[in-house]
Amino acid sequence: MRRLLLSLALSLPLAAEPLELYRWFHAHPELSNQEKQTAARLAQELRQLGLEVEEGIGGTGIMAILRGKPGGPVVLYRADMDALPVQEATGLVYASQVAGVMHACGHDLHMACAVSALGQLSKKRDQWSGSIVFVGQPAEEVGAGARQMLADPRFQQVLKKAGGTPRLALALHDSATLAVGQVSLSDGYINANVDSVDIVVHGLGGHGAHPDSAVDPIVMASEIVMSLQTIISRRLEPGAKAVITVGKFVAGNKHNIIPPKAELALTVRSYDEPTRQKLLSEIRHVTQSVAAAYHAPQPPEVKVDEVDFVPSVYNDPAWTLRLVRVLEKRLGKNNLIQQSPSMGGEDFSEFSRRLKIPGVMFSLGAVDPALVQKGGALPGLHSDRFAPDAGPAIKVGAQLVEDCLLESLQPGP
Ligand SMILES: [Zn+2]
Ligand SMILES: [Zn+2]
Repeated sequence: MRRLLLSLALSLPLAAEPLELYRWFHAHPELSNQEKQTAARLAQELRQLGLEVEEGIGGTGIMAILRGKPGGPVVLYRADMDALPVQEATGLVYASQVAGVMHACGHDLHMACAVSALGQLSKKRDQWSGSIVFVGQPAEEVGAGARQMLADPRFQQVLKKAGGTPRLALALHDSATLAVGQVSLSDGYINANVDSVDIVVHGLGGHGAHPDSAVDPIVMASEIVMSLQTIISRRLEPGAKAVITVGKFVAGNKHNIIPPKAELALTVRSYDEPTRQKLLSEIRHVTQSVAAAYHAPQPPEVKVDEVDFVPSVYNDPAWTLRLVRVLEKRLGKNNLIQQSPSMGGEDFSEFSRRLKIPGVMFSLGAVDPALVQKGGALPGLHSDRFAPDAGPAIKVGAQLVEDCLLESLQPGP
């Protein structure tokens, strides 16, 4: 007890209040893979709480170990650190001080919740057994940070130091639709596989007045764009969930010139692996068949970017059930809101996939309840006006993180 009091006395005057820390992160946003100040501040806060911190993992990533009594399991908790290329328009006093960069996805809030929860758990480390490995992840917004950290040999070294492979990976994301005090947690897929596909269609350039002596790649690519949409409606079984969006179509530079080629860039979303594979093979098939039908002088190029692939997030059913009970106990059953899975991507999935461990991620309500009650459109994530009700949201978020971590350190399946 004396040691505990002594360590508290040492750490309390130095550690920032969670809301103050949030406001600092918010005012000093950094883009993906540039989170230097952010990581340094986070590391400093965690050291003051008594955690063993390692910096510069997979770029700007940090890892920190919080040890309870010996003998328990290892659990991984992740918070992301990067901001977005958005010019803030909230008008808040603690708004971004960096032109064109903003914490518009709430990763500042994720970090504040984590530090606050770890602070509480650090104070009661004689009441639980095992180790918590905190992961401060860079570059979530570009779907690369988790992979970078996992590819760094130091990642495994830290896990080893903490006691081995974690039994669970846990994280939260703030919600721009749920009120503070509400959460959403459901089992199964909650975020999608994200594939990026680049297509180059080769035609034969010529005069716009004589299309018969050219092979028009714009008409060909237009037909490909329309045919791609029939993959979901005609080639997947009814009810299967998938999205193909052509986000880029580039060709030509003058009214009367038929250009030699056209380029398309696609984002392809799915949940399970068989659907993903079917989409990718059908995209190849459609593109090649349309090009052949139009007498393309050479076959189209279809490139699937395997490096940029972000796997879907799958909430482990048994762990979800266990943590739903914890959240219900804290917030009341009515505050657990069922939300449909999103077609957005989230590279938190990499921790489960690469470490072969279950993962759970929940959505934390971050909107002022009065605004939710009033109805109408709220500024969403990535909006230049996104302004969570930070103080109360961090309080609830930190409490839930603490509850979930304590539960996941308990024995049981
Ligand atoms: Zn985001
Ligand atoms: Zn985010």
